[in-house]
Amino acid sequence: MDISVVVPLYNEAESLPELTEWIRQVMNKNNFTYEIILVDDGSDDDSWKVIERLKADHAEIVGIKFRRNYGKSAALNVGFEAVQGEVVITMDADLQDSPDEIPELYRRIREEDFDLVSGWKQKRYDPLTKTIPTKFFNSVTRSMSGIKNLHDFNCGLKAYRRDVVKSIEVYGEMHRYIPVIAKWAGFKKIGEQVVEHRARKYGTTKFGFSRFINGFLDLLSIFFVGKFAKRPMHFFGALGVTSFFTGTLIALWIIGEKLYHIANHIRYTREVTDQPLFYIALVAIVVGFQLFLTGFIAELVSRNAPERNSYQIEKTV
Ligand code: UDP
Ligand code: MG
Repeated sequence: MDISVVVPLYNEAESLPELTEWIRQVMNKNNFTYEIILVDDGSDDDSWKVIERLKADHAEIVGIKFRRNYGKSAALNVGFEAVQGEVVITMDADLQDSPDEIPELYRRIREEDFDLVSGWKQKRYDPLTKTIPTKFFNSVTRSMSGIKNLHDFNCGLKAYRRDVVKSIEVYGEMHRYIPVIAKWAGFKKIGEQVVEHRARKYGTTKFGFSRFINGFLDLLSIFFVGKFAKRPMHFFGALGVTSFFTGTLIALWIIGEKLYHIANHIRYTREVTDQPLFYIALVAIVVGFQLFLTGFIAELVSRNAPERNSYQIEKTV
């Protein structure tokens, strides 16, 4: 099978017939063998009924229904487990992404050998309240992840080699950072393609303002997990030990100074407890100790993690 299209959807009943029909036309025109995997993320409208109806008419449609709403990442993850095609295309169900982009995306994976090609909605049809924070996000993600050539990490329209989606795990709301996850998993050839973006035709957006706060926290954790998940002590331990010893040295210095004055019968001007530096030293000691302990506990946790010794093997001969 050439292509698997994965479509996560939540309350998108109106769009589905149009979307699947359009995908089918594109596929038939290009003689691709394909499947369309519709993952219903616990919709409370008629989405599932529509999917069942579509399935009855078209064998290449696969429907998967969640019992409740788990989020776009979960839907993608389950879709990825089911795919069979050589190339996997993800797209949103709301008709904002155009299926006409599929042949070119497919060509770039097959012929130009990309692991992942992400769409870039260069001209967007979204309100300003969304496009401006998005610009900021993309630039922070670009510099934190070192993927310099992507402008639009969270574009719903992406193409992958099958290996990629079978080796990565998308959970929580991490769908925003799939290129980063792929890069951590060792897939380096990540490209971009300018794609047409359209205004939402039916329904409303499923993500509110919280997307920006959650998105930022997710960026921090993905970065941290990618870098230190297998060796947390290197992060917490280094900070903790530095803080602990700096604090201890300062405290010893201040106390030593007092003892020195007493021993030599010199009048000293400030009590130990009158000096702000002393309190800073105490805080540094306590915080340092806690950071160290956090690192130690994290180390114990990661030692027990089932995937502590799982590595991505590309080939063996
Ligand atoms: N979606 C989903 N589960 C959710 C929220 C959204 O499967 O909990 C789907 C949604 O149906 C759509 C895609 O994810 O197909 C992108 O959502 P939306 O268009 O609302 O996001 P926006 O375009 O506003 O970023
Ligand atoms: Mg949308």
